[in-house]
Amino acid sequence: MYTGYNKSIQISSMTYHLKMQDYICEDCYMIFVPFRKNIDCPACGKKVSEGTELEYLNFINICLENMKYNMTSHGTYQAIKWYIGNYSDWMQSNIFDLCELIRINRPKELYNFLENEISQFDWDRPTIKHTIEITIAIYQNLSIEEKSIVKTIKQSAYRKIRNFLCRLK
Ligand SMILES: [Zn+2]
Repeated sequence: MYTGYNKSIQISSMTYHLKMQDYICEDCYMIFVPFRKNIDCPACGKKVSEGTELEYLNFINICLENMKYNMTSHGTYQAIKWYIGNYSDWMQSNIFDLCELIRINRPKELYNFLENEISQFDWDRPTIKHTIEITIAIYQNLSIEEKSIVKTIKQSAYRKIRNFLCRLK
């Protein structure tokens, strides 16, 4: 459940934030990110009014760009500095952490894995469901190119260790 954020707030100028207001369901007032077409409210099932979701479709791309930046700059999908000013920032922060857990644990079944991880938090069902769906959508969008960045970083880290060990001889 999104109730603001209590971690220390740091601003990173290198990363992207969704520059629009949080989407709020007209019927039940749940805040969520309508990240794909024909999406219903995760709490009450009300359809997002046609066209509205178009404004938020960029969420996936922005989040992927941030994860690419995190990975190339410090070798993890997690952000070192991340400003949380609204719901989509908060959701991106969850996605960074969860995608990093997927990368490390390589689970066979994404949904159950994520449900298990998220159930440790005191969130309501609609938020859990929404977070799982959006994280899976993001993870599936990570292109071969982005996954190869991970491989390259691992290799360069390995080379650094080898070079270091060679110098010790
Ligand atoms: Zn609703």
